[in-house]
Amino acid sequence: MNIPTPCVCILFLSPVASLVASPTPTSPRRVAVVGAGIGGLALARALQTLDTGVEEVAVFDRRSELKPGVGGGIQINGGAAVLARLGLGEQMKASALPVRRILSRKSGGFELLDIDVESLVSAEPALVAPDGTPQAFSIMRDALQRILADSLPVGTVRLGQRLESLREDDAGVELLFEGGAAERFDLVVGADGLSSRVREHVAASHAAEGGGGATPPEYSGIRVQFGVVPAGGARPAGSEGEFHQWFGEGVYALTGSYGTGAADGATSDMVAVVFADRAAGSAAPPENSNWEASDVREDCVGRLRRAGIPAEVVSVAEQCERCFELGVYEHDATAPWVSRGGRAVLLGDAAHAMAPFLGQGANQAIQDGYCLADRLAAARAGGLAARVMGPLQSYALLRRAPVTALQLESRLLGAMETAGGGAGTLPQFVRDAFFLANGKLGVAAQVFVKGARPWV
Ligand SMILES: Cc1cc2nc3c(=O)[nH]c(=O)nc-3n(C[C@H](O)[C@H](O)[C@H](O)COP(=O)(O)OP(=O)(O)OC[C@H]3O[C@@H](n4cnc5c(N)ncnc54)[C@H](O)[C@@H]3O)c2cc1C
Repeated sequence: MNIPTPCVCILFLSPVASLVASPTPTSPRRVAVVGAGIGGLALARALQTLDTGVEEVAVFDRRSELKPGVGGGIQINGGAAVLARLGLGEQMKASALPVRRILSRKSGGFELLDIDVESLVSAEPALVAPDGTPQAFSIMRDALQRILADSLPVGTVRLGQRLESLREDDAGVELLFEGGAAERFDLVVGADGLSSRVREHVAASHAAEGGGGATPPEYSGIRVQFGVVPAGGARPAGSEGEFHQWFGEGVYALTGSYGTGAADGATSDMVAVVFADRAAGSAAPPENSNWEASDVREDCVGRLRRAGIPAEVVSVAEQCERCFELGVYEHDATAPWVSRGGRAVLLGDAAHAMAPFLGQGANQAIQDGYCLADRLAAARAGGLAARVMGPLQSYALLRRAPVTALQLESRLLGAMETAGGGAGTLPQFVRDAFFLANGKLGVAAQVFVKGARPWV
């Protein structure tokens, strides 16, 4: 299709026009990061590792401690490759489990697809460390958070500090915390997740100039129940390093094992059960609607049994000690990431929260952090793009396209995985045909590698 030249010019120039207007300092010296999740901590590590000229980084989090034993497990691939560049490759290798295979079957055992992750990743140069280690791991989120926090100078992470609001002016930005404390910085980065205060500020700054207003997270109508067996041992022998996906009646279940960072190499097991929310359409439930382990466990086991999911999955759910249920939310990734005044910028879930079905949320948050630090380093070195449009806009321009594509792909997968779940969902035969065809044609493997490849 031919796009008329004037349209191309408008497409190109409209973001650039707003970029040039931004008065962002090319070399901020004091940077505040709001949020000590994976994205915020990875950014702090990158700011202190690359030649950014940043002299002081403070990472604030509303939580009073980075508590072990919270949350579930994640897959890390492109994010691991980037962390290796930041000197954390050895820690990842020692703390995580290598991922070798993803095997998808119908509840009766019929195989839909089988992805040889180890071979695929080994054939992708950007995903192989200099020592030959393929960068595809599974790790508990708290273990990864600990690796990142421990890599920062003491005092960088400041806990028990809930950001209430911020005030931006030409000289910098003032952060106002619960309890009345205030502190000024040259730049603030909102790595504060789904309910981001910094995102609200960025949206308001554009609304004040006649741009769009706040864009609250959108509920997808899909829910996930998680069950973690911290001591592991709940899955069939020999399945470590393999993710098993099962498709039943209106239910999709995934089991996997994850490194915990423990010195003895202990692993945890996890089951994730995905289903369509029959009540969706009425008011969206709160972000985390159920953290009560026993309620979720009972509901999850019943759901798996009714869907005919095999005993190897039900057994993990029955043994889980930490069980919780989350609604899947997204943030509109096309909304502004940089405030009008150029002193506030977003990353990770605050910028582009995505459905978890490609396992890319944490991977992309890490890449955001690296890219932002890299753009600040480029601006300091006098790089052209960073000089013309400023480092923040250069970062947003580079990151927006890959994360938007991943967001759409994850959404499609979510629709497929919840097929057969009642009104508004796709029929199951469409789902089965989709996964079977994509497996046979090698499309699923390509989608995995494209998502896993680092884009920075
Ligand atoms: C069901 C599910 C499964 C997932 N599976 C995977 C996977 O397999 N692989 C993968 O890569 N990703 C996965 N993800 C996504 C991943 O967990 C996140 O996308 C990723 O960790 C990026 O997080 P973040 O650092 O941007 O934000 P978060 O991890 O949400 O961190 C935000 C931080 O900000 C703090 N904060 C919030 N508000 C304030 C405030 N006002 N003041 C101070 N601090 C504040 C919070 O306490 C928190 O510590 C999954 C997500 C879900 C929901």
